[in-house]
Amino acid sequence: MSMNDSEARALSTAARAVERCLGAAFYETIRDGAAGDASPEAFADPIGNAAMIKRIARRLGAVRTGICTVDPSRLLSRSGDSLRSVPSELNRAIVMLVEMDADEVGYSPAAAASAETSLGYMRMALCASGLARFIAELGFRALPAGNGLALSVPLAADAGLGRVGRHGMLIAPDLGPCVRICKVFTDMPLQCDDPAQPRREPFCATCDRCARACEGDAIAELGVEGGEDKGIDASRCTDFWKRNNGSCANCIAACPFTGSADR
Ligand code: SF4
Ligand code: SF4
Repeated sequence: MSMNDSEARALSTAARAVERCLGAAFYETIRDGAAGDASPEAFADPIGNAAMIKRIARRLGAVRTGICTVDPSRLLSRSGDSLRSVPSELNRAIVMLVEMDADEVGYSPAAAASAETSLGYMRMALCASGLARFIAELGFRALPAGNGLALSVPLAADAGLGRVGRHGMLIAPDLGPCVRICKVFTDMPLQCDDPAQPRREPFCATCDRCARACEGDAIAELGVEGGEDKGIDASRCTDFWKRNNGSCANCIAACPFTGSADR
C-alpha cells in the first residue's frame, strides 16, 4: 500500500537530513590514509584488493560495485558551488549501485516515489563515505562522492555496471535503471572491470516508453534525429521536478528494465 503524502514527505525529509549529515562530514574530504595498524605495503595486490573492496561495499549496502580507471573526460570542473576536483593520483574509481524499491518508484510522480529517491541518496552517502573511510584506514587516499565530481552514469558504464538508456540513466543487468550511483576515487591498486559493450542499450532503438512517460518533455522520442543518443534535456527535467514539488522517476518506472514496469 502506498504511503500518504504526509508520510512520504516526512520520510523524504528524514532521509535527506541523514544524507546531508553524512555528505557534509565526508563528501568534501579526501581521506588521507593514516589510522589503524594497516600499511599500504600489505595491500599491493590489485586483484585481491578489488575483491575485498567489492565485499566491503556489499556489506555497506551496495548491490553492485565496479572499478575503472578515471577517464578525465568524465570529471566535472565544478560540483554545484564547490570547486572540488579529483587529484590525478586518485586514478581509480570505485562505482557503487544502491537499489531503489521498484514498487515505490512505480508511484512516480507522487510523493511516495520521491521518498524512495531520497532514501537512495541516503544509501549513497552511507556507501561512499563508509568505503572511503575503510580505504583510508588501510593507508590509502580516498575521496567519496554522490552525484558530484564526475558524471556517474558514464563512469558506471566504464566500470562495467550497465549500459546507458534513452533516459540517460544506467540500465544495470537485472536491476534496470532502478538504482542510484555513488563512487569513491582512490590511489589504492585495484584491478579494473571490463567496460560495457556496447555502451548504449540497443533496445532503446525500438522503444520510447520513457519519453512518452516524461511529463517534462525532456526525453527524445523515437524518430527524433539522434534519438537515444541525445540524452535528456536536464533543464526541462529539473523544471518538472520544481512543478512537481518533489522529484520524478516516471522514466525509471516506465522502463521495461525496471522490475515493476509492465512488459
Ligand atoms: S525524471 Fe521525470 S522529468 Fe526528468 S527525464 Fe525522467 S521522466 Fe522526465
Ligand atoms: S524506456 Fe525504453 S527507450 Fe527508455 S531507457 Fe528504457 S528501454 Fe530505453
